[in-house]
Amino acid sequence: MIQLLTFDLDNTLWETESVVQAAEKILLNWLDQQAPLFTRNLDSDARRALRQQVLAMDPELRHRVTDLRIAVLRHGLLQAGHPEAEAEALALQGFAVFLDARHAVELFPHAESLLAELSKHYALATISNGNADVRRLGLDKYFQAIVSADEVGISKPAPEPFMAALERVGVEPGNALHIGDHPSDDVHGARSVGMASLWFNRLNAPWPEELSPADGEVKCLSEIQPWLKANGGKS
Ligand SMILES: [Mg+2]
Repeated sequence: MIQLLTFDLDNTLWETESVVQAAEKILLNWLDQQAPLFTRNLDSDARRALRQQVLAMDPELRHRVTDLRIAVLRHGLLQAGHPEAEAEALALQGFAVFLDARHAVELFPHAESLLAELSKHYALATISNGNADVRRLGLDKYFQAIVSADEVGISKPAPEPFMAALERVGVEPGNALHIGDHPSDDVHGARSVGMASLWFNRLNAPWPEELSPADGEVKCLSEIQPWLKANGGKS
């Protein structure tokens, strides 16, 4: 019997790429005002290269998007000629500007009514590799556990974020279902710890042949409750 539903966030409850692109533009404008050496001394190729340079120095940062983004900013500010203390402070301020803009997400149709309804029948949790925070979006009232790769230190599809959600709610993997858009991070990751999985395939993508399929597939959030009902769920 399913007792816990865990949700991916980015591209499952809202579309992400356009919001992140807009947030990056807002950050660049802010840097242009507040850290002019950054935009003056680093062209777009140099700025694009920063992420790989930082990951080459500290590969583990790929699991923690917040620390990675701050490190990339700090590295770029230093490379552009800002002194160390200034680079440190500007990186943190710049990240705060980015993070504000990163929360300008628009929920997919049915997202909030779905969470409200499901939370009456199941324990709900979030498991995200990204740095959007449901508390900042006023959605935390629906969730008993909020798990991020940033905080766990390793990203999906590793078992740790899934195990953290299961442990915090106190549910066995066999009584939990994960819902997400990513075949590997979400579906394969959930299976690896013994959870069931539902693939949110909004864009009607083909399933990657090398992975075993999810237990179910929906193309719209409104299909989740009927799917649960048809598959022995509580609602
Ligand atoms: Mg996702």
